Amino acid sequence: MLYAWIDGVKRPPLAKGERTACRDCGGLLSAVLPVENVRHWRHKAGDCDPWSEPEGPWHLGWKECFDLGCREVGLPDEETGELHRADVLCGSGTPAATVLELQHSSISEEERAAREAFYMRRHRMFWLVHVYSTDTSFTGDSFKFSLDFERPRQVDHNTFYLLRWVGRSKQFIEKWKRAKAAVAFDYRGHIFFLAGEALGRRINGGLPLAKGQFALCRLTQDQFIRWVQASA
Ligand SMILES: [Zn+2]
Repeated sequence: MLYAWIDGVKRPPLAKGERTACRDCGGLLSAVLPVENVRHWRHKAGDCDPWSEPEGPWHLGWKECFDLGCREVGLPDEETGELHRADVLCGSGTPAATVLELQHSSISEEERAAREAFYMRRHRMFWLVHVYSTDTSFTGDSFKFSLDFERPRQVDHNTFYLLRWVGRSKQFIEKWKRAKAAVAFDYRGHIFFLAGEALGRRINGGLPLAKGQFALCRLTQDQFIRWVQASA
């Protein structure tokens, strides 16, 4: 986690040796100041959010786009005692409270569904999925080669593009097409909103999108941020 309450202030660690208590679990947190990565807090006895993943500059950059009070908000389920920390929570306490999950690492369909089930019980939810290639995964390249803005379709004053996933495995795009929450992709700082099942059908003239087929709408970063905030 990048932020913790220390001496009455919510902030990242500033110096080695700093310690504080986690507001969600009461556990001891110690400052980690890596040379190559972002400063963060580490639970001595393991993170109280089992979904917590290593975070880097991509997470930090996006969290900083939102008010400090909206970043990393622990959400306990009163009935089950289950606790997870939303990356961003806008409009807390209002009927339209919205969770934004920043997804950098690859997650399975089961994990995606479990997170949606938890957060969507009481909140609206957006995913922002970081799209990139690694030495072993070509998701970023497949995404780039799939972008083709030749055939615009107007739906509700938004321009969508009907695209076909380039690459043998359609697993990545199919997994996100089936999301219950709203999904946007961040490819090199360019934001694309992914049409869900119902919207995809409208864009495709009433027919369900075929395997590998998907529809995107381009957004600026500011539009995306306002969109997450405006739903709250
Ligand atoms: Zn904790």
